[in-house]
Amino acid sequence: MAEKIIIIGSGPAGWTSAIYAARANLRPVVYEGAISEENRLKGTLPLGQLNITTEVENFPGFPEGILGPELMIRMREQAARFETRILTEDITSIDLSRRPFVLGDSAGNRVETHTVVISTGASANYLGLDSEERFKNRGVSACAVCDGALPRFRNQPLVVVGGGDSAAEEGSYLTKFAHTVHLVHRRDSLRASPIMARRILDNPKVKPVLNSVVEEVLGDDERGLTGVRVKHVHSGQTQTIPATGMFVAIGHTPNTAFLNNQLKLDSKGFIVLTDPFRTTTSVEGVFAAGDVADPLYKQAITAAGMGCKAAMDAERWLAAMGIH
Ligand code: NAP
Repeated sequence: MAEKIIIIGSGPAGWTSAIYAARANLRPVVYEGAISEENRLKGTLPLGQLNITTEVENFPGFPEGILGPELMIRMREQAARFETRILTEDITSIDLSRRPFVLGDSAGNRVETHTVVISTGASANYLGLDSEERFKNRGVSACAVCDGALPRFRNQPLVVVGGGDSAAEEGSYLTKFAHTVHLVHRRDSLRASPIMARRILDNPKVKPVLNSVVEEVLGDDERGLTGVRVKHVHSGQTQTIPATGMFVAIGHTPNTAFLNNQLKLDSKGFIVLTDPFRTTTSVEGVFAAGDVADPLYKQAITAAGMGCKAAMDAERWLAAMGIH
């Protein structure tokens, strides 16, 4: 028998959707993602981006702040308490041309469902240099919280690339371990929110390298990354920053490749919502929530809010279709 609702993804959008769907007696199934090296490298492990962050200070209800992983575990427990079924697998194929929809998972199972909530989030971008690829896991990282405490980064000069909140957060975090953090940003001012920009720029371990882009990641097979060559965008002058690590924090790409263009996406790959106030997509019965459909806000709390809306939209759609 087909499921009523399958939720793909296990960040704040997915769990909130599950909590609401479960309490509406839809018996949701959450595919939280598989635990694999491939997912680790892609940044798509279960519990999403909050699971690889540190303190979350802006989620209402936690005046002292809460650690990202703890927040996610609590959301997961809350969904489980209402008898959400949780599968630690990826959805690897999806056919939205049939009804019920047909999904395949990484364990080789095939499932049918009347509605789907897509809440697969977004993953970190890289610069796209060959030399960056060469030193991934040997100095190049997109996750300070995952990798920052490794011995190769301790008491060493490091480079952080980017000027948004992620770069500010990762750079501040890395000052706990690093000797110096060189913050390389392509413009003359940070995009980060004023409070986070101030926090990083006021840190005596941080050396801003503004109006500059990374030209090449330097290193060798024996030592891994040994430095980063950057170029000033106006003068064209280059300089080499000796470092043992480069942390890339230049934004994210939505995890929509597995959809094989069966849903309408925008030019950057975000799912297009047919009504911006709701979670409806170009295919009836498919709803989207969180960063995968949000090029603008990308916050834990907005993702959770969208997850709630997606469950309610799915419930109403099932009722309208007479599926009980
Ligand atoms: P973002 O705000 O999009 O910033 C990306 C940064 O990377 C920008 O400074 C951008 O430069 C730079 N960049 C992009 N592509 C680049 C390239 N190819 N080469 C060099 N630099 C490049 O992304 P984010 O920092 O990941 O933040 C995403 C969202 O999450 C934001 O809404 C943010 O507020 C939120 N967030 C919040 C927190 C928090 O509140 N604790 C923490 C992290 C993230 P330009 O400035 O020139 O565009």
